Amino acid sequence: MASLKLKNIYKRYAGGVTAVNDFNLDIEHNEFLVLVGPSGCGKTTTLRMIAGLEEISEGELYIGDKLVNDVAPKDRDIAMVFQNYALYPHMTVFDNMAFGLKLRKTPKEEIKKRVQEAAKILDIEHLLDRKPKALSGGQRQRVALGRAIVREPKVFLMDEPLSNLDAKLRVQMRTEIGRLHNRLNTTFIYVTHDQTEAMTMGTRIVVMKDGYIQQVDSPTALYDRPCNIFVGGFIGSPQMNFMNAVLTKRGNDLHLVFGKNDVKIPEGKAKKLEGTDYIGKEVVVGVRPEHIHDEAMFLESMPDSIVEAKVDLVEMLGAETYLYMIIEGATGTVTARVNARTKTQTGDVIKVAIDANKVHIFDKETERTII
Ligand code: ATP
Repeated sequence: MASLKLKNIYKRYAGGVTAVNDFNLDIEHNEFLVLVGPSGCGKTTTLRMIAGLEEISEGELYIGDKLVNDVAPKDRDIAMVFQNYALYPHMTVFDNMAFGLKLRKTPKEEIKKRVQEAAKILDIEHLLDRKPKALSGGQRQRVALGRAIVREPKVFLMDEPLSNLDAKLRVQMRTEIGRLHNRLNTTFIYVTHDQTEAMTMGTRIVVMKDGYIQQVDSPTALYDRPCNIFVGGFIGSPQMNFMNAVLTKRGNDLHLVFGKNDVKIPEGKAKKLEGTDYIGKEVVVGVRPEHIHDEAMFLESMPDSIVEAKVDLVEMLGAETYLYMIIEGATGTVTARVNARTKTQTGDVIKVAIDANKVHIFDKETERTII
């Protein structure tokens, strides 16, 4: 069993960079936890502190019940898989996988058994006699995983392990690592800057920015209920659209007014805004591309949230089409994800319906979610 606890963890590098700020997290046994965020947000530093490769400046790290701040990496019962695989070029696949066990003076027969078992799981039994240079990128990645598996660690740490693979192989290895996690019944902590990888692999995701945790949640919760503009924009592809709108009270109703456009806020949502300081003020509205519609049936069923848009570009992807549009009040181009068979064409000025039940409203100053 390997749970982890990170308590008020800081990393301050020489030269004044605080790479990780007050990181607090409990990780349960057998979780597949993903750390995600843009370059430089502190994910690798966090992982390296867990591995013991980087000293913790302040705070406490527990693996199980044991405080491990001062425990050497080799005694932490963890295995780390790196982006560049870090295989020894002069050794065979077998020896690469066996290396850690040999250092630990594991008996020869035991080493052979564990390497063969891991090779079987990863489908690389036929490659055991080869040297790394005679392997493809995907095969090398499997060997790196194999080297971690044979050690039977309590915790697997992975730092962008798929980023050197081509897109197709990356998708395949994503599934394989997921399967490996199910099979090994251990805790995985996985670092990536790729939100799709995070969303498809993690049972729980930690979104980081500038050394701070922004939100910790399941993939669905992150997508449906981002805590701020950053998370809303970072999770989801194509990105969430943002507009500056004035929250306007008219009669008993609340409206989002931007440019000539007016979107009525449905009653349920409006109730949560009534009596707040936001009425009459500018807020930021977030709309996911799949919640903007160009089809007649939506325009008819959502008469209170019709907006005028100029279509800049139509991108047909086969199963769906993206419309890139100019909408008054929006920050940059607005993307809509619509039916593949849409009649809309580049240059059209059209009406689109925004699903007002699905909009996110953020505080313009703090950028935090209001509703
Ligand atoms: P990437 O996706 O680019 O790997 P990351 O989220 O993993 O980014 P880190 O590598 O953890 O980010 O870096 C966090 C911050 O700490 C960055 O500002 C980086 O420049 C800084 N940093 C990292 N290592 C050191 C170091 N050894 N000395 C000083 N600053 C460092």
